[in-house]
Amino acid sequence: MQAIVLSKTAESVFSAELAEVSKDTLTAETTNCDTLVNVEYSCLNYKDALAICNKSPVVRKWPMIAGIDGAGTIEESTSPNWKKGDRFVMNGWGIGETSWGCLAQQARLRSECLVRLPDSISSMMAMAIGTAGYTAMLCALALRDRGVKPESGEILVTGAAGGVGSVAIAILSGWGYKVVASTGRSSEAPYLQSLGAQTVIGREELSNPGKALQKERWAGVVDCVGSHTLANACAQTSYGGVVTACGLAQGMDLPSSVAPFILRGISLIGIDSVMAPIAKRQRAWDSFASEFDLSKLTLMVEQIKPAQVIEKAAQLMAGQIRGRVVVDFKG
Ligand code: NDP
Repeated sequence: MQAIVLSKTAESVFSAELAEVSKDTLTAETTNCDTLVNVEYSCLNYKDALAICNKSPVVRKWPMIAGIDGAGTIEESTSPNWKKGDRFVMNGWGIGETSWGCLAQQARLRSECLVRLPDSISSMMAMAIGTAGYTAMLCALALRDRGVKPESGEILVTGAAGGVGSVAIAILSGWGYKVVASTGRSSEAPYLQSLGAQTVIGREELSNPGKALQKERWAGVVDCVGSHTLANACAQTSYGGVVTACGLAQGMDLPSSVAPFILRGISLIGIDSVMAPIAKRQRAWDSFASEFDLSKLTLMVEQIKPAQVIEKAAQLMAGQIRGRVVVDFKG
């Protein structure tokens, strides 16, 4: 089978390549996984790009098959819950990091980590959503669960033209929220408006050091970039508002103060997709089926072949990709 294989020699020389891997290596014994799947589609997320470009220590075991998510059908499973032909989506749980991932034609996965795909979502749509989109849904649900309503006020989405940002805009605008998109690429304003953003602002309005408390503007925030952007977003969040933090595209740091929390009672909610329990995942995927306009995915998706993955990952790292990149392992 074809797979994106990441290797490191004893001298720490890194390589990433599309390689032929024997399917015989995917046994239950070698992988400690009970389910063999046919990956129809995978995709490129920020973490995949970090791993493929060797930009941060995402990969913990070598060699590694990359790919933190995938969708397709079950080929064989010893679990009573899954049978041949069942449709699954897999996100996170350390695949592509500590165990072999889904940028491959087949993968061996743990059945308890799989989510059943709703009927209306094809494998291709599932990967157009991908970990980025599923994380965007976790953010949107967290805002709504904590009482942020469309009439509460504007919602800020940072890193807007990226994968998480694009899907977050589409979800929240579809639910009737007024979305303000923050981007470093003003040329993408028409794209962001087509997804549902009412207003587009420049990334530089938020990315520099700012005061601990600023003019109140946001009822809610989906932040994909961290650092000063997240600190300023908190400082501008209205009394009782909710900020969801899921990303670090600007930086891991959070140069903030307690002022927005103790003087305005705002909440900062951490969003993790990787180790989220199955019920939370299934709820997010079911929400895509029941309360998301799946036709919006066509606005944000680019489909590529496995041979293009390495080049695309470099473009993603360089901030040159808009929306989502889906990798076709079926064709
Ligand atoms: P993308 O690369 O698709 O998007 C990131 C976006 O961030 C870019 O498109 C750009 O948006 C913006 N950006 C890039 N560099 C900077 C910078 N230096 N300063 C400010 N903004 C910047 O990545 P994803 O959307 O897939 O992921 C976004 C973040 O979310 C990543 O940090 C990723 O690690 C994280 N993530 C976390 C998950 C979790 O479980 N918590 C799951 C999935 C992703 P624009 O061009 O519009 O400015």
